[in-house]
Amino acid sequence: MSAKLIIFSAPSGAGKSTLVQHLLKCNFGMEFSISATSRPPRGTEKHGVEYYFLSEDEFRAKIANNEFLEYEEVYPGKFYGTLRSEVDRISSENKNVVFDIDVVGGLNIKNEYGDRALAVFIAPPSVDVLRERLQGRGTDTVEMIDKRVDKAEYEMSFAPRFDVVIVNDDLEKAKTEAEKVISNFLSK
Ligand code: 5GP
Repeated sequence: MSAKLIIFSAPSGAGKSTLVQHLLKCNFGMEFSISATSRPPRGTEKHGVEYYFLSEDEFRAKIANNEFLEYEEVYPGKFYGTLRSEVDRISSENKNVVFDIDVVGGLNIKNEYGDRALAVFIAPPSVDVLRERLQGRGTDTVEMIDKRVDKAEYEMSFAPRFDVVIVNDDLEKAKTEAEKVISNFLSK
């Protein structure tokens, strides 16, 4: 049986990473696709755990080499992408692949894989709540937060193109809903 792909996209601060980390601990036989990025590590992030951290030159060389399944310049000069080798690695372990990627990359993967993929959009309850969450996280400057909030408003407009939208108002409820959605998809 070929591996299934589960894509999570959301404006940053919508609680997507927390949900994804929770789902990876459930027994769904899923593994996280570690993306490559040219942004520097934040906080305690480590190479090969949250991301493969590359220089912009290294990233561009891999683009030229056709090593990416998809990539986006998510912020000016900051590239993010899914390496083909990452999907091959996880599929060869007979596991399902989980993506935590931006809305455009998410929809690109969904278009390529069709019914083998489930595209889930995690929405924050509102833009104001999103701003508060980003401020509370304390890892971004005021300028970065403004940029992320602007981008979030744009990203929210992609929600209707996803297979499922989960509004993360109450984290426990969102976890339960996500578990149900994945369990249904994997049992098909
Ligand atoms: P952050 O810098 O907060 O970790 O991520 C910024 C954005 O890049 C998030 O929306 C995240 O989902 C997205 N992102 C992470 N990895 C990838 C990837 O492989 N491809 C694409 N297109 N976006 C990604």
